[in-house]
Amino acid sequence: MIPRTTPYCQSDDSPLAQADVPATHWQTVLASAIREPSELLHYLNLPQSLLNGAIAASQSFALRAPLGYCQRIEKGNPNDPLLRQILPLDAELISDQHFKLDPVGDLAAMEVPGLLHKYHGRVLIITTAACAVHCRYCFRRHFPYQENRAEQNWQKAIDYIQSHSDIHEVILSGGDPLSLTESRLKNLTDQLLNIPHIKTLRLHTRQPIVLPERVNSELLSWLDSLPWKIVMVLHCNHANEIDSSVASALKKLQQHQVTLLNQSVLLAGVNDNTETLIDLSQKLFSHHVLPYYLHMLDKVQGAKHFYVKNEKAQQILNEVRQLLPGYLVPKLVKEQAGEKSKITLI
Ligand SMILES: *Cc1c(COP(=O)(O)O)cnc(C)c1O
Ligand code: SF4
Repeated sequence: MIPRTTPYCQSDDSPLAQADVPATHWQTVLASAIREPSELLHYLNLPQSLLNGAIAASQSFALRAPLGYCQRIEKGNPNDPLLRQILPLDAELISDQHFKLDPVGDLAAMEVPGLLHKYHGRVLIITTAACAVHCRYCFRRHFPYQENRAEQNWQKAIDYIQSHSDIHEVILSGGDPLSLTESRLKNLTDQLLNIPHIKTLRLHTRQPIVLPERVNSELLSWLDSLPWKIVMVLHCNHANEIDSSVASALKKLQQHQVTLLNQSVLLAGVNDNTETLIDLSQKLFSHHVLPYYLHMLDKVQGAKHFYVKNEKAQQILNEVRQLLPGYLVPKLVKEQAGEKSKITLI
């Protein structure tokens, strides 16, 4: 999920903007997400000294965190691993020439607006700018979503997929594709139904983790209606992100034959140690989710304080590999602009 010109937090492509239909429960929950730095600090009993930095950093990429996610954060602990993922810090304002606006070369790989065809057999579609949470390290925190969303150009994306019979898998990404309502999702998938070479639909989403209310009966019915194998790649970075409400959302998805995988980002101060990654793999597996990828941080402007060096990453992963069965060890990967697949470091 990743690239930039206008910060997408300023976009109005929010599920809440669809004002003509009554809000469903998950939209109401999302509407009450914390967006004000002062509110977050107050809610979590955090020191006021964090306020100025949080306000400054949230100017270019807004704060957004659902209340249910905030409830999993330890009060009074500025170093909580979940808090670090959502709290804007003045460290984000430090600029460094190696930390760029489009770190993975998404714009160069854009075949039609919103459609990325970088890797053999798979296309990735940027469906929407909206996310339920704003992750401070997001590699698409600067992506020019307004000009590059597939939805307004959907016919071009369909034509592209139709004319490339070697494309077997369509990946819905974003933003978070589950920010779209079922009717909008269905509009997208209805048009894929007549393309025989599609076998698998993949969703890259963080919503079952950060907004488990999103996994409702309407979503499950839409998934049930689809003729393809469904793979959902979740995004969870720390075992504490999985509470009982997340567990029940995951269980429902499994009951509807969705294959669940997880991708994480290796983040300094969040999960950059052996024990935390082992806990995460074990917790995921206890909910029948397999760890898929552990991403090296993409060097995006504003995220330098999350960076973990290659040597340290490889050392941690080697330790994890010695202690866990192979199926619980995620592949350590790096996205390289212009490459034909992700680069596996270990
Ligand atoms: C990661 C990614 C994919 C999927 O790659 P897998 O290795 O199949 O998970 C596809 N397209 C783009 C642009 C990606 O970044
Ligand atoms: S959910 Fe994904 S796309 Fe959205 S802010 Fe987080 S990392 Fe970025």
